[in-house]
Amino acid sequence: MILGVIADDFTGATDVASMLVRAGLRTALVIGVPNGAPPAADAIVVALKSRTVPAADAVRESLAALRWLQAAAGVEGLRQCYFKYCSTFDSTPAGNIGPVTDALMDALSDQPNAGFSIACPAFPENGRTVFRGHLFVGDELLSDSGMRNHPLTPMTDANLVRVLQAQCRRRVGLIRHDTVAQGVAAVRERIAVLRAEGFGVAVADAIANADLRVLGEACADLPLLTAGSGLALGLPDAYAARGWVQPDAQAARLDAMHGPAAVLSGSCSLATNAQVAAWQAAGKPAFALDVRALARGEPVAERALACARAHIANGPVLVFATAPADALKALQAELGAAEAGAWVEACLAQVALALVNAGVRRLVVAGGETSGAVVQALAISTLRIGPAICPGVPWTQAERAGAPLWLALKSGNFGGPGFFADALAMTA
Ligand code: ADP
Repeated sequence: MILGVIADDFTGATDVASMLVRAGLRTALVIGVPNGAPPAADAIVVALKSRTVPAADAVRESLAALRWLQAAAGVEGLRQCYFKYCSTFDSTPAGNIGPVTDALMDALSDQPNAGFSIACPAFPENGRTVFRGHLFVGDELLSDSGMRNHPLTPMTDANLVRVLQAQCRRRVGLIRHDTVAQGVAAVRERIAVLRAEGFGVAVADAIANADLRVLGEACADLPLLTAGSGLALGLPDAYAARGWVQPDAQAARLDAMHGPAAVLSGSCSLATNAQVAAWQAAGKPAFALDVRALARGEPVAERALACARAHIANGPVLVFATAPADALKALQAELGAAEAGAWVEACLAQVALALVNAGVRRLVVAGGETSGAVVQALAISTLRIGPAICPGVPWTQAERAGAPLWLALKSGNFGGPGFFADALAMTA
């Protein structure tokens, strides 16, 4: 094993794993820090849920993941560790990106080339770019984007040097785009200057995949990288150039996907609302969960299952709680946002488990928290990563009761309107 990735949330873990397999690295994903033996792979991604927990907990969990990854790498040792966070740098002034970066750098301080790392959330294929240290979401500065109103991690400053410095013990510098544009040697020179001036971390500009490849090559010998998923796209080539791995064109191959299929949607993002609408507009069977009935204790999951059973032999069924913003607000005001969310997650997890127990083998799930609840209900601990459906969302394969189960776990805002049908069209 060459690379150990610590991801601060679940769909972020599948996102970065998808980048790695796309570039030919055999990659496995484990959910939480496992007790058992590591799967055989060039890279292992540990999916944590540490983005919004208190900083001390995020540090503790990330260090536990690092120790497990180091043990998994065995005597050869881990060549590189990658701390994966959101491409919108989701965090608060108290953390968790800065404290986790500091702690991982401390823990890796005995490694060759230790003492310096970069921070690069750029993901140009999804509209996240960094220029002069400022993060853009599409055409807007991060602080002008919808992220300024995020309920847990409102991002009101697009200057990432300032944002990270507020969280980080080490001095935070900048590798500007004009340096990145000059290539690998210029980036390495800049890093040497920053080190000499006492900086421990630098935000790195990147506005296109070519910039990410330059950064990946220039930083492949650092023990720690911190980034969104974009930086991962250039790493397999950098590792191959050093003779550490042989990229495998078949890295994203899963067993032939087949069997009954279903779609479960618990995301209320704009993208997912459009996907649910497109599914219904195409005349495909869909069952809307009645959240008020759920709150009254009625057997809503059983009703959803009855509907699914009636249709599933003829093709996939959608079960959804997805609602537009105004309807969601009204429901949340009436029932409580946390309570309603928890009921919906529990209901969709129950439906997922019953469907899989009844023979469903291909499952598309929309929503980060929803995906977490479904995977937990199915007691899945390891995922193989397959081909990408869209940037950031791969098909994955799990083993359950001795049989394969294929899952597409979609973060709310990813994918075009046809995502559900497109995902299933890639399978048998
Ligand atoms: P996303 O990836 O879009 O953020 P998540 O699954 O992470 O999606 O979060 C969506 C949350 O909204 C979940 O907790 C889900 O249970 C909740 N939810 C979904 N539909 C409804 C609804 N109709 N009423 C109330 N809460 C809902």
